[in-house]
Amino acid sequence: MHPLTAREIRAAFVNCSQGEAKRAALPDLDLVPWESLDFLGRRSAMCQVCLTPHNGTAVTLTVARKTGPAGKRGDSAGVYLCRDLACSLYGRSLRSSGVPRLRETLPVDQLVARLRANLDAFLARVLV
Ligand SMILES: [Zn+2]
Repeated sequence: MHPLTAREIRAAFVNCSQGEAKRAALPDLDLVPWESLDFLGRRSAMCQVCLTPHNGTAVTLTVARKTGPAGKRGDSAGVYLCRDLACSLYGRSLRSSGVPRLRETLPVDQLVARLRANLDAFLARVLV
């Protein structure tokens, strides 16, 4: 693969707005092993509890077996969570994933309430 500039990469983001393409986090292009790559890809995902966007594999699917008869049948429920389980810190803006995100307008107490509601929703799917 021939080396690309940040401008070329951002121009290739055809399924988002120009603003989103401009804000997208890019790797350090000087460290990309261009000669060994067939494509340049990136992953991003969002934690379903704290709603923090992350790059790469910093969000993982966490699965819990359901309680009761459903669990005895082997049923489970899953949620995508921050791999480091630091949702409480992200939710209070005490830690950043380094990925640009929409500016929150809610006060911290409402952000925390939303985080807890999202966690409660997952637990409600597990505790049946
Ligand atoms: Zn999280």
